[in-house]
Amino acid sequence: MESTRIGVFRRALSGWFDKEQRPLPWRETTDPYRTWVSEVMLQQTRVRTVVPYYLGFLKRFPDAASLAETDPQDILKVWEGLGYYSRARNLQKAARIVCADYDGRVPANETDFLKLPGVGEYICAAVQSIAFNKALPVVDGNVKRVLARLFMMRHPVNKSSSLRHFRRQANRLLDADAPGNHNQAMMELGATICKPKVPDCYACPVSEFCKSFAEKTVARFPRRLKNKPKPIHHIAVGVVYRDDRILITLRKPDGLLGGLWEFPGGKVRQGETAEKACLREIEEEVNLEVEVDFYLTRIKHAYSHFGIEMDVFVCKYVSGRVVLNGAVDHKWIRCDQIDDYPFPTANRKFIPLLALGGAWGSVKNNFI
Ligand code: SF4
Repeated sequence: MESTRIGVFRRALSGWFDKEQRPLPWRETTDPYRTWVSEVMLQQTRVRTVVPYYLGFLKRFPDAASLAETDPQDILKVWEGLGYYSRARNLQKAARIVCADYDGRVPANETDFLKLPGVGEYICAAVQSIAFNKALPVVDGNVKRVLARLFMMRHPVNKSSSLRHFRRQANRLLDADAPGNHNQAMMELGATICKPKVPDCYACPVSEFCKSFAEKTVARFPRRLKNKPKPIHHIAVGVVYRDDRILITLRKPDGLLGGLWEFPGGKVRQGETAEKACLREIEEEVNLEVEVDFYLTRIKHAYSHFGIEMDVFVCKYVSGRVVLNGAVDHKWIRCDQIDDYPFPTANRKFIPLLALGGAWGSVKNNFI
């Protein structure tokens, strides 16, 4: 696009955004902390999913100080189901630094903000441009798709070395007088008009600048490298009961699903039955001898890089004292206490089968 046309492009985009943008709760604020929370949540997650989490999170933690002070388990409970839990853990670590070093205020400069845990190029550009009007281009999946089509860019969008090419184009288009608005408009265009499968080019405010539209090659962009198929892991877990209590264990604070509670279990080995794997894993992880009472269900769940098929057994405690191997804590809880703890979504999928009627006078009677 010639530089003389870029000004016309910006005006067309911002005029459309002013009129057509979706009313989203984080667009009603100029508070940098709130903008930051919204952008962290929006990474890898749909707007529709984020809205209730955003509102609930800010009700509970309205500023960096309240987030910094709270028990990390409270944050994970509010975040439960949103996934990518390291985002929540990093947000609290960052909030603690903001309170200790910046008087509770989000740093208004790129260098300091980028040093905070969980703040990468995307979060930095989004928050600094929207909250502080810094001229930094945002390049997320939506923006890459728009740019790839506008300029017929051949660089695969899912290849990391392509990022600098997209950033260069985004930077050329960026409106330095209103960078926050411009970045949001680019993302909104990708989310609502220049959609992945069926872009609505006839409603597009910048179609006159779009090379792939002019050359009828829209369907060929963006380009992607073929992803390898995701591996599926077979998992077996046991809900161990003893009298009116069930056993839950706490994962290490870092790593995948860090800080969440779960039921003991693990991968089924080749040639092993799920039931045998369940008994073996329980012995290895919590040092208990149990017997399988009955098979509860099979759960399927997809993570970003793999999927799981999880067989769930209800197991009766036989003997032993809990000695943890891997987990960092454990509790014997009543079933009606289960909602007090944050669990991974895969566990939440079968938990409703456990709690019939709430209170567990006799645990076993409450299973289906
Ligand atoms: Fe996307 Fe179509 Fe607009 Fe081009 S004209 S930017 S392909 S919606």
